[in-house]
Amino acid sequence: MPTPTSPILPNFSGFVQVRGAREHNLRHVDVDIPRDALVVFTGVSGSGKSSLAFGTLYAEAQRRYLESVSPYARRLFHQMAVPAVDSIDGLPPAVALQQQRGTPTTRSSVGSVTTLSNLVRMLYSRAGNYPTGQGIVYAEGFSANTPEGACPTCHGLGRIYEATEDTMVPDPSLTIRERAIAAWPTAWGGQNQRDILVSMGYDVDRPWRELPQKDRDWILFTDEQPVVPVYPGYTPEQTQRAIRRKEEPNYMGTFTSARRHVFHSFANTQSAQMKKRALQFMRGTECPTCHGKRLRREALAVTFAGLDIADFSALPLQRVAALLQPYAEGTAPGRAAQDAAHPEQAVVAQRITQDLVARLRVLLDLGLGYLSLERSTPTLSPGELQRLRLATQLYSNLFGVVYVLDEPSAGLHPADTEALLAALASLKSAGNSLFVVEHNLDVIRQADWLVDVGPAAGEKGGQVLYSGPPAGLADVAASQTRQFLFADEAAAPPPTPRSAQGWLRLAGVTRNNLRGLDVAFPLGVFTTVTGVSGSGKSSLVSQALVELVGAALGQALPTAEEEGDLLETDEPTSSGGHITEGMEHINRLVRVDQKPIGRTPRSNMATYTGLFDHVRKLFAATPAARKRRYDAGRFSFNVPKGRCENCHGEGFVMVELLFLPSVYSPCPVCHGTRYNAQTLEIQYKDKNIAEVLNLTVDDAWTFFDEEPTVQRALTVLREVGLGYLRLGQPATELSGGEAQRIKLATELQRPPRGHSLYVLDEPTTGLHPADVERLLTQLHALVAAGNTVVVVEHTMRVAAASDWVLDIGPDAGDEGGQLVAAGTPAEVAKARESKTAPYLQRALK
Ligand code: ADP
Ligand code: ADP
Ligand code: ZN
Ligand code: ZN
Repeated sequence: MPTPTSPILPNFSGFVQVRGAREHNLRHVDVDIPRDALVVFTGVSGSGKSSLAFGTLYAEAQRRYLESVSPYARRLFHQMAVPAVDSIDGLPPAVALQQQRGTPTTRSSVGSVTTLSNLVRMLYSRAGNYPTGQGIVYAEGFSANTPEGACPTCHGLGRIYEATEDTMVPDPSLTIRERAIAAWPTAWGGQNQRDILVSMGYDVDRPWRELPQKDRDWILFTDEQPVVPVYPGYTPEQTQRAIRRKEEPNYMGTFTSARRHVFHSFANTQSAQMKKRALQFMRGTECPTCHGKRLRREALAVTFAGLDIADFSALPLQRVAALLQPYAEGTAPGRAAQDAAHPEQAVVAQRITQDLVARLRVLLDLGLGYLSLERSTPTLSPGELQRLRLATQLYSNLFGVVYVLDEPSAGLHPADTEALLAALASLKSAGNSLFVVEHNLDVIRQADWLVDVGPAAGEKGGQVLYSGPPAGLADVAASQTRQFLFADEAAAPPPTPRSAQGWLRLAGVTRNNLRGLDVAFPLGVFTTVTGVSGSGKSSLVSQALVELVGAALGQALPTAEEEGDLLETDEPTSSGGHITEGMEHINRLVRVDQKPIGRTPRSNMATYTGLFDHVRKLFAATPAARKRRYDAGRFSFNVPKGRCENCHGEGFVMVELLFLPSVYSPCPVCHGTRYNAQTLEIQYKDKNIAEVLNLTVDDAWTFFDEEPTVQRALTVLREVGLGYLRLGQPATELSGGEAQRIKLATELQRPPRGHSLYVLDEPTTGLHPADVERLLTQLHALVAAGNTVVVVEHTMRVAAASDWVLDIGPDAGDEGGQLVAAGTPAEVAKARESKTAPYLQRALK
């Protein structure tokens, strides 16, 4: 039964009735939400939208689903979180399309996520052109991830990794004793190898380059592992004498060549650090057998439309669709003879291509036609990945399902948002419900129903302020969404643009779809780079600009390996460009991106920002701690002194289950507090260290009111809209937007220096329009302090409020990559060829 705030509308088939929802900050929420409708959940960041949509509705739907299908799963329910809610009636099964938190760990591609690759392999296997006399290759044979398909030389990697004398001995003027062989372990292990060489009579005190080549090769590359007596601490002469006299050695040592050591540690270590170290001594070159195509010869010999499957998978999806269209229609030229000879093949080819074309259509409609099947998912933005998953749902023909989506417009240009809305409409018309958490006003305006949560974040939120058709929100005074949705310009009018203090000029930028682009960024002002998804904004800003400026400053940049994907070390095929002017005005590059602030629950906001160091010192300075001689290290959960040793300070333990993925449950010894009992006895004011980590930033700000240093750090976190986060919230639970704002806050609390270049990629992701205003204030403050800010953005409010706009396009992929317009927001809004102009024009009014 709908509540009074939910007027009964004839076209809703029924309502999901939530009673007493208390998950996270929700304050005993009762709400009725229509099915078969586009329902948008709005509210400032941290107000409780996700707690309601994902934490309550989706979690409960999933729990019921698992209960109905899996007897194994039922046993885990006491471990699985049950949402805090009295009752939910009328809830259909749910599918969540959530943005990835943290980085995806599995190696997957556009083709595998969308399952299109399966169809393409089937097409090649069943309807491809085979060289005469070659037997059929089964579908798996076209996958580099199977033993049937992988190129035997490179095992399907496309590259072979070799350790060379140059890589393993970077400085040949050193002697072995001076650690010429950098690839050997640095600590005892390396010394051990040196002592073994001494026993074997090698001269470890001559510069490496003066040793005979034969000896050098043996030391670096041999697979032999002789075992010899070792006398550590003896000089070479003493060692030889000891061996002659058959003196009792300290121990018997096993020799391992440098290459063997490098390969062994690369293949066997669990530590990313060690892998990275090993990789440093290896050089990857294109595999000579498959030329980087990763497949066996027999698979690569099969073609369709004149292309082998590797070349086919490298084409942008829009080209693939165009190529397959004639086959789907049965009008492909040159097929006739072959089809006549193999009529059954002709039928298969048409059926599979029809299916592929229909599925590709959905991807093109969602503005993803510039991607290729082989593109690896770690290189995609979270928004692109979510749209890929959405497309997969669109052609899976489910109905009667609730789709729960997290900001599907993230990463979308306003022009692309229209396609997204069309996709959502077609899911709805197929008989599904859509629950969408969204900040984008264009999406909010299209909703059939709004659930506005607020009024503010954390404890000051958690109430449903309004539930009903959008127009009704106009009367809800407490809503922060209302003013942006109805007053066309609740935001302050755009400021008068500042003038550039100089120019940073890049020439010949070549990267992905940018080909020899010349572009100038104004210094000392705030610049927004706009353009449709896939036009080349990130290639220009997050890649080329960051790399060129970073290199000019000698600032080390994270390498591909550090970013998690160890084997994606391939240099981009063509990457070029240089800075011709302006570096004298830049002293420092600060990149504020959406990458996680840490990959394990051991890092959190407090540790990342440095706030925790201050807090630990405060605990160590309490009389009780001083009496027990507890230092600041005692209050860290990362070192043995003060942490719980049962869970090593993780707060939870892993429970291994037969046949099912392992689950985590709170540590039974410390009950999730991460500390041992003695540490928890120390209180600062009335809280122990675990309780402090559990405070929100807002509460901590009040709690530490006598500590200006701590309070200053907390103030900045509140200013970037993170007052609702808990200090100890693990890095793994943070969204990309939250991670980005934490990085921004960390930068903002540093003493101002000026002459820094700040680069941000879509900083408004996850931000309510009210939070966007606060962010703009912060960014303008950076400029006022003498810095340069460059952001990539789709939110026109940000473009309108900046000093300069660079519009990239005109379209995506091959049809993009050019500078379409550059100027003040008002100038770019008048540019004829720009797809951004009409939307920017609207935001300027
Ligand atoms: P929104 O989606 O509106 O940004 P959330 O529902 O994510 O807001 O968060 C609402 C409140 O619940 C915030 O105070 C947040 O810190 C808290 N919260 C979110 N996730 C968790 C969690 N896993 N554990 C405890 N509190 C959480
Ligand atoms: P935008 O930031 O405007 O959405 P991008 O710079 O991400 O656009 O992409 C521009 C073009 O370059 C697209 O065709 C995209 O598919 C391609 N591209 C981007 N990153 C990569 C990558 N890591 N590998 C291959 N192609 C890429
Ligand atoms: Zn190969
Ligand atoms: Zn524990």
